[in-house]
Amino acid sequence: MNIDIATLFPEMLENYLSQSVVGRARAKDIFTVNCHNIRDYTKDKHRRVDDTPYSEQKGMLMQCDPIYNCYKAVTEGKPKPHVIYMSPQGRTLTQQRARELSQLDSIFILCGHYEGVDERIIEKIVDEEISVGDYVLTGGELPALVLVDCVVRMLEGTLSKSDCYEDESHYSGLLEYPQYTRPEVWEGMTVPPVLLSGHHANILKWRHEQALLNTAKKRPELLKMLELSEEDLAIIHKAVKFDEL
Ligand code: SAM
Repeated sequence: MNIDIATLFPEMLENYLSQSVVGRARAKDIFTVNCHNIRDYTKDKHRRVDDTPYSEQKGMLMQCDPIYNCYKAVTEGKPKPHVIYMSPQGRTLTQQRARELSQLDSIFILCGHYEGVDERIIEKIVDEEISVGDYVLTGGELPALVLVDCVVRMLEGTLSKSDCYEDESHYSGLLEYPQYTRPEVWEGMTVPPVLLSGHHANILKWRHEQALLNTAKKRPELLKMLELSEEDLAIIHKAVKFDEL
């Protein structure tokens, strides 16, 4: 997969994209990512990329031309990428959407800043707006990193089998089960005995039950989106009162 990110602050992104799981996947060529400074594409002699919005004189808005010039230069001679504008007005990112995006060959991410971008650039090049939550951040850089991290984790070869994302929260629609590591007793609190039993089938059953209960306790609304078996419902209802869900 190839990812291009258009931003006014490429240096904010570079450090994160070179570290940890994402950095290792990049070093292994599991994906390529290039950050492009939109300011390099302005024709303004003072390198300006923004201006005041017509409707009001407060704040600054990123202009169409520098963004469009950047987009054209980056994509010239290549198949059209899927273009995403990170925006608080977009659909909230989900594991499911990130998984779908991980199947694409090429994405181009636009990061806004200041008051955002001129609406016409969205109409011209953007296929999808994605939000990281119902709150407003200063720029699209953190949201772009959130998106890239989430997508890259699901590319073949990024995670080892033991770190597999399929067991993690949200992949199946449930939250993950609780996890424990050494020591067996810490501050008088013990690890659930089943996890020390070595009985694989019982451990799998415990994990599934705990994932159901964890979800019912912390994010009950997620359960409404799942087709739960009678057995699953019985597990949940034993621990949580029906009207609490
Ligand atoms: N005036 C815009 C509005 O009210 O919708 C908000 C602009 S925000 C200060 C600047 C930029 O940060 C946006 O253009 C967008 O790229 C990014 N941004 C802010 N919050 C975001 C969020 N929740 N998800 C994704 N991007 C966000």
